[in-house]
Amino acid sequence: MSDAPVVFRTTGLTKVYDQGEIQVQALRGVDLDLYGGELVVLLGASGSGKSTLLNILGGLDVATQGEVRFRDLTLTGADDRTLTRYRRDYVGFVFQFYNLIPSLTARENVAAVTEIARSPMSPEEALALVGLAERLDHFPAQLSGGEQQRVAIARAIAKRPEVLLCDEPTGALDSTTGILVLAALDKANRETGTTTVIITHNAAIAAMADRVVRLSDGLIGGDYRNDQRADPQTLSW
Ligand code: ADP
Ligand code: MG
Repeated sequence: MSDAPVVFRTTGLTKVYDQGEIQVQALRGVDLDLYGGELVVLLGASGSGKSTLLNILGGLDVATQGEVRFRDLTLTGADDRTLTRYRRDYVGFVFQFYNLIPSLTARENVAAVTEIARSPMSPEEALALVGLAERLDHFPAQLSGGEQQRVAIARAIAKRPEVLLCDEPTGALDSTTGILVLAALDKANRETGTTTVIITHNAAIAAMADRVVRLSDGLIGGDYRNDQRADPQTLSW
C-alpha cells in the first residue's frame, strides 16, 4: 500500500471555530497522508475533530491554517467554484442520516446523481453492489434504515468517485444492520478501488480497515495498519 499514490496530503492543518468570545480549536496541526485505494477508519471520541477533518478533505469546509492537497489540487485557498467542481467530480459522501429524497424510488435517488456524472455506473449496478438489486423500485419509507443507508452508499459510489468519505455511517443503526452497511462499504472499496474513509467512535470497526488513524483532541494520536482486513461480518459490538 505504501507504493500507492498519495491522494490527500494535509500539512499543519488547523481549524478554529470562532464564535465571538469563544474559540474552539477543532484541529491543531494535522499532518496526514492518505493513499490511493486504502480503506481508512478514522477513530476518535466525540468532539475530537473527525467531522471537521472529513469536511475539509471533502471541500465542505475550509481550514484556518495549514494546507490540504488532493492529488495536484490545493484545496486550501481554492474558490467556491473549484471546490464545488472538486466535490462533484471526485468525492462521494455518506452521512449518518441518509438524506434520500422521499418521493423518489431507490433507483431514482441514485439516478439523480448519475445523470450529472461523467462516467457513472448505472443505478441498477450501484444498487446491486450494495445488495439491493431486489429493491430498485421501493421508496425510502418502504426500506429499513440499513437499506436506506445502502441506497445512500449506492448513490455515493455510482459516480465512481476517487474518494468516498463516510461520517458515522452506522451511527443511527443497530449492530446487525450496521454490519451490513459496513460490508457494503468494504465491497465498494474492493470493487471500485475508491479511497475510503470511515469515521467512527466505535473501536470495534477498526478491524475491517487497511489502516486506522486515531484522532485525539484535534491531533493525530495513532496511525497503524492491520495485517489483514477483518470481514465486516465478523465484527461485533
Ligand atoms: P467529532 O466529529 O470528532 O465529534 P467535530 O469535528 O464535530 O468532532 O468537532 C470538533 C470540535 O469542534 C468540537 O469541540 C465541536 O464542538 C467543535 N465544533 C464543530 N463544529 C463546530 C461549529 N460549526 N461551530 C463551533 N464549534 C464547532
Ligand atoms: Mg462528528
